[in-house]
Amino acid sequence: MFSFYARMSLSNKHIPAYQIYDRMFLMRHQAQQGRHKNCKDPYQSWYHKHLEDVAEQFDVTLEANDMTWITSVKKKVQQQWYTTWLKAMQQNDSTWSSIYIIFKQQPVMESYMKALVHPVTIALHKLRSSHFPFQHHIGRINHTHTRCKLCNAAVDEDIVHFLLHCTAYKHRSSLHTQIKHVMKHFSVQFQQEVDNYFTSDLSDNQQCAHLLSRTLPTAVNPHQHTLWQAMWYTIFHKLDKHLHIVVTRREALLQAHTRNQLQQVIKHNNQ
Ligand SMILES: [Zn+2]
Repeated sequence: MFSFYARMSLSNKHIPAYQIYDRMFLMRHQAQQGRHKNCKDPYQSWYHKHLEDVAEQFDVTLEANDMTWITSVKKKVQQQWYTTWLKAMQQNDSTWSSIYIIFKQQPVMESYMKALVHPVTIALHKLRSSHFPFQHHIGRINHTHTRCKLCNAAVDEDIVHFLLHCTAYKHRSSLHTQIKHVMKHFSVQFQQEVDNYFTSDLSDNQQCAHLLSRTLPTAVNPHQHTLWQAMWYTIFHKLDKHLHIVVTRREALLQAHTRNQLQQVIKHNNQ
């Protein structure tokens, strides 16, 4: 999601392809023998114009014999990207965005996420994205019903229902037991922090954000950072496994549901 292409497309074209531009800029200012058949100047292209526009916008002077401008552009472009991203997130009033912004204020990957392994990564990334195929989205696109097919609650299946309320997933209570078990090995103060983090007194969106976040909460005591991190990374690991289990369970239940429906239709047609 935070790829180079995402930066290009999400930032209103203010983000230049500096990896290409630095080379092209040099080429333009070096004597060239060749000439592209579509260009008037040797190796001239629209990239130069874009680069010059971007440099002007960020107040950077382009110098062929002083390449420090690349560092300045990169820094300013990154800052611009962070600001644009945050603004877009704050203006987006979807449930997804409201949850995501609670645990992420910058478009950078948390260090914990880098060590994740497939297929746990897939489940977590899918749930953190705005494209998870919940019935709430599918129904609205296909003009069919948006309710959860897997329980009798008669409510929409969305991230909140899936993570917090749907009775089709028994593993939720097992997760709580596992977290309690991890906590036992740490101080009362730490335990209190974990309790506060996962309390059901928080809003639904905040509870979802805490299940999806892999950002280390602020340490209660900076001197105990290593212990604090060890505890949270162990808890995050339990959360990862839990999410993978419920996502897999959901897929299996939906397949069974479709199979049942088909059998009903066949039975009905044979009567
Ligand atoms: Zn349900």
